[in-house]
Formats: sequence, C-alpha cells, structure tokens
Amino acid sequence: MRLDKLLANMGFGTRKTVKGVLKSKVVTVNGLIEKEGKTQVDPEKDTIIVSGEEIEYHEFVYFMLHKPQGVVSATTDNVHKTVIDLLEPQDQLRDPFPVGRLDKDTEGLLILTNDGTLAHNLLSPKKHVDKCYEAIIEGIVEEKDIQEFASGITLDDGFNCQSAHLEIISIDFEKEQSIIRVTIHEGKFHQVKRMFEAVDKSVSYLKRLSMGNVQLDETLELGDYRQLTKAELDSLT
Ligand code: URA
Repeated sequence: MRLDKLLANMGFGTRKTVKGVLKSKVVTVNGLIEKEGKTQVDPEKDTIIVSGEEIEYHEFVYFMLHKPQGVVSATTDNVHKTVIDLLEPQDQLRDPFPVGRLDKDTEGLLILTNDGTLAHNLLSPKKHVDKCYEAIIEGIVEEKDIQEFASGITLDDGFNCQSAHLEIISIDFEKEQSIIRVTIHEGKFHQVKRMFEAVDKSVSYLKRLSMGNVQLDETLELGDYRQLTKAELDSLT
C-alpha cells in the first residue's frame, strides 16, 4: 500500500497533511528516510518508523462501543448523528462500520469493524450468534411468556423465531413494569420489541449486554469505545 495511506490510516493526519510529516524527514522505511507519499510499502514486512517509534499496523480494526440512545447504527445519515461520529478521527479513517444494527433508542454493545468477513460471519443466520438484551417491559411478564419465548415466538410478519431464553429480573407491580433479560439467536428488525408485542407487551428501554461471548464492558461510559481484546476477538472468530 502507499506510505501516505498507511500513515493516514494510523492517525498521522489525512492523505494531504501526512505530506508535511513526510517532508519533515521523520519517517524511515527499513532504516532510510522516506519523503514520498506514493512509495509502496508492505506493513507486514517493512519496518516503518515515525519520529523514532515503530508503527505496528493491523489491517483490520475491531471496536466495542457502548452505544447511547439518539445515534443511528449507520456509517452516514443526513439527519442523525451516527455511531461513526462517536469515534476519534483517526479511527474513522479506518472505515469501520457497525456489525448489525441497534435501534436509535437502544443502548449497549455494538461492535464496529472494517473486517467484512468477520461481520458477515457474525450476522449470518447460519451461525446463530446469541445476543443477550436487558429490557424494561411495560406489563407484568409471567411464566407463560417465558414458555412462549421458549417455544418460539411468531412475529407480526409470520417469521418464526427460534427458542429464546427469557428471564425475569424483577417486577414492579405498582408501575406494572418488568425488568427482564432475553437471549435471541437471530437479528430481525426490531426483533425484541416485536417479540414482546406478540405477547401484548411493549419495550420502553432496551440495552444489548452481549454478542456471542463478548460482553459489554460496563466500565465504558455511554458513547465511549475501546478495541476488542485478543481474547474477545478470538471468541468471535
Ligand atoms: N431488538 C430490537 O427491538 N431493537 C434493537 O435495537 C435490537 C434488538
């Protein structure tokens, strides 16, 4: 790849501004000062040093975002702020995209990557990656709802969901609200909300806690993100 692209990807500026970095003779490739952005480099083989620090380049990036409400799970949107807008400029330059979607009013774990193969595998209906959500339900969730979720809810469009594990965390009888956890295996549009509609209840708050073996890092504030650890990434591949 071109040296200026690699430097831009690594957060040293845009393709334009890294020209200045190169001109200031702080970049060496295999020990020789390199000033030309168009020079081809192989980040896996060449030793590239910027201002005395060796660059460790990885083709793909993998982030865990604690998605807040009010942002859309898209790369661009004419009206709303997107999850990409929450990333640092140098991370946006790596062209990450969200793996699947959370609704605008849903919070919680969202994985962002530029690795199309991983995203495809995680979203593939054949892989059945479990997704666990916590929710506030308007209504009293009962044992019969747990049974219905276990036997497979049919959505309003006739889609038959696989057996889902529904667990009651607490019930507020005065407010007629229930806090629940539910684990689903597919990723249909508004799936959790539609599953509760099927049992005549509504979801007033929804948060994704995990995807496969990757749990939301609760030390991340809403809107913050970090790289996936190697163990988290290995568990997804
Ligand atoms: N199910 C929903 O209804 N909404 C989400 O954002 C995710 C799952």
